[in-house]
Amino acid sequence: MAVPAATAERAAFLRGEIERYGYAYYVLDAPLVPDAEYDRLFRELQALEAAYPELLSADSPTQRVGGKPLPQFAQVAHVVPMLSIRTETDTEASGARAFDARVRKELGLDAAAAPVEYAAELKFDGLAVNLRYENGVLVQAATRGDGESGEDVTQNVRTVRRIPLRLQGAAPPVLEVRGEVYMSRPDFERYNAGQRAAGKATLVNPRNGAAGSIRQLDPAMAAQRPLSFFAYGLGETQGWDLPATHGEVLAALAAFGLPVCAHRAVVQGADGLIEFHERIRAARDDLPFDIDGVVYKVNALALQQRLGFVTREPRWAVAHKYPAEEALTTVEAIDVQVGRTGAITPVARLAPVFVGGVTVTNATLHNEDEVRRKDVRVGDTVIVRRAGDVIPEVVAVVAEKRPMRDLFGGEPLHPPYVLPTACPICGSAIEKPEDEAIARCSGGLYCPAQRKQALLHFAGRRALDIEGLGEKIVDQLVDNDLVKTPADLYGLGMGAVATLERMAEKSAANLLAAIEKSKDTTLARFVFALGIRNVGEATAKDLARHFGSLDALLAADEAALQQVPDVGPIVAASIRRFFAEPHNAEVIRQLRAAGVHWVEGEPAPAVDSPLAGKTFVLTGTLPNMTRDEAKDLIEARGGKVAGSVSKKTDYVVAGAEAGSKLDKALALGVTILDESQFKELLER
Ligand code: NAD
Repeated sequence: MAVPAATAERAAFLRGEIERYGYAYYVLDAPLVPDAEYDRLFRELQALEAAYPELLSADSPTQRVGGKPLPQFAQVAHVVPMLSIRTETDTEASGARAFDARVRKELGLDAAAAPVEYAAELKFDGLAVNLRYENGVLVQAATRGDGESGEDVTQNVRTVRRIPLRLQGAAPPVLEVRGEVYMSRPDFERYNAGQRAAGKATLVNPRNGAAGSIRQLDPAMAAQRPLSFFAYGLGETQGWDLPATHGEVLAALAAFGLPVCAHRAVVQGADGLIEFHERIRAARDDLPFDIDGVVYKVNALALQQRLGFVTREPRWAVAHKYPAEEALTTVEAIDVQVGRTGAITPVARLAPVFVGGVTVTNATLHNEDEVRRKDVRVGDTVIVRRAGDVIPEVVAVVAEKRPMRDLFGGEPLHPPYVLPTACPICGSAIEKPEDEAIARCSGGLYCPAQRKQALLHFAGRRALDIEGLGEKIVDQLVDNDLVKTPADLYGLGMGAVATLERMAEKSAANLLAAIEKSKDTTLARFVFALGIRNVGEATAKDLARHFGSLDALLAADEAALQQVPDVGPIVAASIRRFFAEPHNAEVIRQLRAAGVHWVEGEPAPAVDSPLAGKTFVLTGTLPNMTRDEAKDLIEARGGKVAGSVSKKTDYVVAGAEAGSKLDKALALGVTILDESQFKELLER
């Protein structure tokens, strides 16, 4: 049958792409595309070659295993070739049935014959290694390479703690163990967090982490990477009576002291396979390591022998995949989302893509630095990851697919991403302090996204103390558009409040009374209630004391603000920024117009108290007073309460179950008071 020219061309194209992706994945440990994309091209080529056998050449990637070993390593010839496993990409039960049907056909079993017994295991996502033990001692470790020969990575493998250097029990003269070196998720996260903190390069994913570490030229580097290992099979053996089944082989390996994953089973027929596939699918997200499927192997070694191999894979095994957690799609736009605290999160709007079992149209880009680092732009083809219930994220950009201005490269069509300067919700300025990763909307009280949080803060017990204004009511007030800013609270009437869900007439009246009562407050509470970034309760009090009136505070420039004890440039700047935002100024005006008032001129601290100017830290539970009460007593005498112990701490007041703060105080030699000593000090 003549091969149509277009088909031949397509096959050549696919071969080129698969070779390129395979090289990046196997040799460089730096994949260019998600596995699902590679698998798709691979399958398409296999299908073409099946339809037109003339297309099949010995050098087709469908006929080969893995990639060439790196020349920097010594080569190891595998006595028993390390093969690939056929991938079943039909992630449904039908995938398992198809495998079982093939096996039965090859074995010549008819419908009446008993079910075939299988060993079912997990498909670990790491790097395959062959461990050679001679008389129980690890003498060599090699990668799979091209299946015929791999790289000698003995030094690096020796750094993997879970790989025994000596086997337990009566080990045979030669035992080659095959298994997967992998990096657990927690180890991966921890390693990356450390790297990030040190400003060093992070690993893309656990698989590349494992593969890259084992193929490190410097074993000291490999030793720093936390790697694990699971054994799943055999290479060459000498002087060992092979067990009859694969299940027994695994049990024997475990008895030699090798780690064998506990999630394994011996099952009967297709139904048993399907049940295993389902069970592991449900457990997948809770596993501490990545898997991309399960592996089924005909259990009896004698039957495995009868079934034999096709070029690169055994007929007696298959890898049954799960829906991919990573997929390719394109970025249609990059927007920002505004969180409850004003935090601005860039979000990629994506062409809909099915990944991790759902259709995803948005993915988080975390923050501006992250977008820059990954250089995500509109029009880009990106790898999106959605694992379990985790928010989908953009993992990386496929650089080579970036749209360019013209066919010959040159300039990218779209510029690098920059964060907008105004909040998309309220139009207020977006600000990002130099040394922080998170940008924020400066709209504060005015920004609807921040409104609920701001209202709760405003009504809090240590702010304007509006009893009964909790989260549920705030949600409804904001969602029903009854309240936009705290000032609106004072315009609420019975009519509006009574419409809220589950609001009896009596509680409506109570709420309105509490709102009315809150109008009578102090300047310090009012300043604190505004929710100015970096202005906590203590600073609000300092400001009230220092300026005596709101107008004086509003008029203060940064230099004047820094006259206040403990107000440095950062706090001063954030106060100025808050008051300079016209929306905030308007809310303050409305609050005053609504009748919120205080006695101007907060009483000055009693300077003759021994507590004046001293810094206290409270820890543990005091027998007769709450922390808030203690705090009020200290502050009324001109003292300050800090959250953590430092050299500047004068006293630590410790109650029952005091924890690390007490330890720190002891270490620093800070004076520690119990409740009665504290009371004594108060009365002095
Ligand atoms: P394979 O990785 O699918 O299967 C063979 C390998 O499975 C073995 O070498 C072993 O390492 C591993 N394995 C894990 N658990 C096992 C178990 N319990 N029993 C036996 N083996 C187990 O075969 P392959 O041909 O090397 O690679 C294909 C895989 O690599 C596909 O998943 C493909 O998506 C991915 N890949 C991706 C890219 C890319 O660009 N993203 C490129 C090449 C390959």
